[in-house]
Amino acid sequence: MCYQGVVMERVTHSNSMRATDSTVTSLSPTVELLAELAEVSQRLESATPQEILTWAVQRFAPKFTMATAFGPEGMTIIHMLAELAPETPIFNLDTGYQFPETLALRERIRDRYGIEVEFKRPPLSVVEYERLNGGPVYKTDPNRCCAERKISLLSDAANGMHAWASAIRRDQSPDRAKAPVVGWDKKFNLVKVSPLANWTKKDVWGLIAKYDIPYNPLHDQGYTSVGCWPCTRAVLSGEDERAGRWSGFAKTECGLHTQD
Ligand code: SF4
Repeated sequence: MCYQGVVMERVTHSNSMRATDSTVTSLSPTVELLAELAEVSQRLESATPQEILTWAVQRFAPKFTMATAFGPEGMTIIHMLAELAPETPIFNLDTGYQFPETLALRERIRDRYGIEVEFKRPPLSVVEYERLNGGPVYKTDPNRCCAERKISLLSDAANGMHAWASAIRRDQSPDRAKAPVVGWDKKFNLVKVSPLANWTKKDVWGLIAKYDIPYNPLHDQGYTSVGCWPCTRAVLSGEDERAGRWSGFAKTECGLHTQD
């Protein structure tokens, strides 16, 4: 299958990397690169997630990576990458506060796809971190807690990479509504690829049901969006799907997908 020059089959990077990219350790947002991303993003607006991922692998692998919180959206992307480019490095930002059900998905992914998701962890354990700060920082300053136990990890994990895949959907929040399919992520100095930008919750769960893709059992218990256990609750009927995240705080995002 071919979509505007993107060949839809298992893609390898050996013959697709641009020669000039192979010697570059990090990308710079040059005028040329930004123009390319804008053009590609527009062109891929009506593409399928698989076509978007195929373009990203052909353009950036082996410097294309994926961060996953093991949410349903991320699980569908892992399912697609298992077919298209299983060698893509995938990591989880393990804050130390994730639910056991979330962490167990790493083994379930290994069993199903043979893919090893790497845990990226902060230098301090939860015990050390809370001792240093006189208690849980998430109770008093969740922005700092997210910055120190999550966001900083992506900066490290992305070192040497050129592009990363995120599993955000535009219809999840006003912040995410502005996400391009492909764009420059100035916070992490990476190209950010959002294959599910135009997907809906129904699309995601439809694929999960169709292919029996593993997912977090907490979703069957009213947790529509799952983050760290101290900052996640089940949602009530009629609430927004992300209403259970940082409930009681004005905070709605951990900071991975905001540009400030
Ligand atoms: Fe800390 Fe909560 Fe952010 Fe997790 S979600 S890093 S516990 S503030």
